[in-house]
Amino acid sequence: MAKVYAITNQKGGVGKTTTSVNLAASLAATKRRILLVDLDPQGNATMGCGIDKSSLEYSVYDVLVASKAIGECIVEAPESGFSVLPANQDLTAAEVELINEIGREFRLREALATVADQYDYILIDCPPSLNMLTVNALAASTGVIIPMQCEYYALEGLSALINTVNRVKQLINPVLEIEGILRTMYDGRNSLTNQVTDELRRHFGNKVYSTVIPRNVRLAEAPSHGLPILFYDKQSKGALAYLALAGEVLRRAASDTSANTQAEQIH
Ligand code: ADP
Ligand code: MG
Repeated sequence: MAKVYAITNQKGGVGKTTTSVNLAASLAATKRRILLVDLDPQGNATMGCGIDKSSLEYSVYDVLVASKAIGECIVEAPESGFSVLPANQDLTAAEVELINEIGREFRLREALATVADQYDYILIDCPPSLNMLTVNALAASTGVIIPMQCEYYALEGLSALINTVNRVKQLINPVLEIEGILRTMYDGRNSLTNQVTDELRRHFGNKVYSTVIPRNVRLAEAPSHGLPILFYDKQSKGALAYLALAGEVLRRAASDTSANTQAEQIH
């Protein structure tokens, strides 16, 4: 059964999409079967994978609103070895159209359940708000990955996100956990960065990934070529960082599984 991670932060520009696309490609490079779900009407993850969002036959909108079978909406990222449920601006209408629907929080979860055995990891690139789309992502997920920049206001807003995660966990998705906090656009020479890191570790302990994603211009260039960084410049610091992150994500998942197995054996 796939592990499903929502990559979320209601702030824009913190590296959600960059992380979604490049973690998907890095995990796929380790022979894991990956589905990337683009849940942002901007369709940046879709474009970043080399898929033209303006010529989609079907998108995640059709899955959420029109109850289209998810298998008919999934496409392959050219060259990168993973699958994508793409998005475009049609998705903007989804929120309004779902308002009066019963079970609207569960649309994505129900759709993903039908394909979960075909993937090892499903990554969901969330929009920059805590709206019904994000609630759909959290309801469908086993874990939350929070990318953030280590800047002064970074921690502000984090409590709203954590509250939303906790409410979704209490009310509709008891298995949901914070999977990891990822420091993005990282510059270790900046003393503020170190203060924010200390604070994050105080609040979240070892949930803070030890891998950091450096500020790297190649990461910013790759989307305009429709390629994950691994296929654009695999020697770059950005590519190495996302490969290291994939390794850390896999190790964490393996230790969670063995901890669960031990717990089951004890009971
Ligand atoms: P979000 O999805 O949270 O809005 P993005 O992943 O789109 O954030 O990143 C915002 C901008 O910053 C994009 O132009 C992206 O190319 C750039 N960017 C993201 N991560 C890095 C990085 N580590 N180094 C340099 N530029 C980055
Ligand atoms: Mg984005």
